[in-house]
Amino acid sequence: MKNIIIFGAPGSGKGTYSDLIKEKYGISHISTGDVLRAEMKAGTELGKIASEYTSQGKLVPDELMIDILAKTYDAQPKGKGVIFDGFPRTIAQAEELKTMLAERGDSLGMMIELLVDEDILMQRLLNRAIEQGRADDNEETIKNRFEVYRTQTAPLAEWFEKEGIRNTFSWEQYPSKEAMIDAIFKVIDKENA
Ligand code: AMP
Repeated sequence: MKNIIIFGAPGSGKGTYSDLIKEKYGISHISTGDVLRAEMKAGTELGKIASEYTSQGKLVPDELMIDILAKTYDAQPKGKGVIFDGFPRTIAQAEELKTMLAERGDSLGMMIELLVDEDILMQRLLNRAIEQGRADDNEETIKNRFEVYRTQTAPLAEWFEKEGIRNTFSWEQYPSKEAMIDAIFKVIDKENA
């Protein structure tokens, strides 16, 4: 099974579709946001540093993230493939991921991009704030996260394009969770045929 990088703005459904992909293909799932939230909850040194950034909607520094990612990747079972959710978020992280995987005889695999309009995203995130009580899902922080996404993360889509592994799915084209996941499954099946 090829690795999958799931890519999109905050609220675009990376976690939701990762869970569905994981369920169908038995692939491992690494969410760097989940890793950081667990560290913050446990009150570790890393968690304390991370909360200074996440609480403001800022990115945690690349060196720290790359280290966390490599450790988490090395702890996964080998040969099943991995979904990277929330990583990479900068060009530097993408380059490092490519190198890290190559050093381990692995490769990036395929990228799945989720495209959703910002007004829909804002509504989803405000709803999630009520349902899940995530500390960084308030309007002020959400606006910062969108800004960070636009300036630091969105340009990465072109990087994946150049790698020849970009697959885009827009909410406009597939306006329901069912339509979206069906289209995603088809592309994953094709890539792994
Ligand atoms: P997420 O759950 O993926 O939306 O991540 C929540 C927060 O964790 C982000 O807003 C960032 O502050 C931080 N974070 C998660 N992944 C990364 C990453 N790859 N690089 C930098 N910061 C990250």
